[in-house]
Amino acid sequence: MEYRRLTGEIVFSGKGLHTGEDCRVTLSPGGPGEGVTVDRGCGLSPLDACTFSGTGRGTEVFLPCGQSVKTPEHLFAALYGLGIWSVRISAEGPEVPALDGCSAAFSEALLAGSRPIQEGEEQPEPFALSSPLAVEDTGRNALVFALPSGGLSLSYVITYGGTPIGTQAADFRLSPGSFKSLLAPSRTFALASEVRSLLDRGLAKGGSPENAVVVEEKSVSAAGGLRFPDEFVRHKMLDLLGDLYLLGRPLRARVIALRAGHDLHCRLAERFLFLSAARHSRKKETNHV
Ligand SMILES: [Zn+2]
Repeated sequence: MEYRRLTGEIVFSGKGLHTGEDCRVTLSPGGPGEGVTVDRGCGLSPLDACTFSGTGRGTEVFLPCGQSVKTPEHLFAALYGLGIWSVRISAEGPEVPALDGCSAAFSEALLAGSRPIQEGEEQPEPFALSSPLAVEDTGRNALVFALPSGGLSLSYVITYGGTPIGTQAADFRLSPGSFKSLLAPSRTFALASEVRSLLDRGLAKGGSPENAVVVEEKSVSAAGGLRFPDEFVRHKMLDLLGDLYLLGRPLRARVIALRAGHDLHCRLAERFLFLSAARHSRKKETNHV
């Protein structure tokens, strides 16, 4: 996998998908050894020192200072997909802007504003999974499991019975260029039957026909038509990739998700972080001895 580094500052602004509020996020190159850091007006914190939750409709990152940033997953997917692991992310407002409801606009700007890391420059240290692990939600019949692998690959299965989505399954292997062409253009989606309850819960206020696909009982409302016949499952892989960015470093694993969502993605990321911290402290103890 090729890694990239930002060459300057990049600003994204617009309404948040759920809050509908005007939001702004500024990205700048990270300093030596910093990795991925996040700030919302209270100083930069390493991403792997934050906590997070996927129990709402999207993901939310909680900074040690108590502030949070909602819906980072489409930006994070673009950063992961392009291999950018040294970056300062400063948010103004409660959410990352929705932009086009996928990762295409993020990817284009990040690609134009970055360059490949050269030999001899600081590289991210991947986290290699050494044994299989799984998280599940038996109530929803949902499961995510991960197996050791030399790179990162994702498989996803979704089932939306009684809708035009039906069952979709897809695989994705991360390689230079694969994210931008295969996943980034896949838009977020909602069932028409859910939209009213999302709005009642104060969510999806920034959703619009331009940034979201709405699935009716027998048809699909998508501006310009669907971009892929399996756009829905591709968007789920985009979300999973974005949630795996919460590790703050690249993952070497094969991740397989069945009917999952942000909640299980985040629980898997937590398990990886726990393993990574345990491995790190064992290494420190060994060095000490
Ligand atoms: Zn999404």
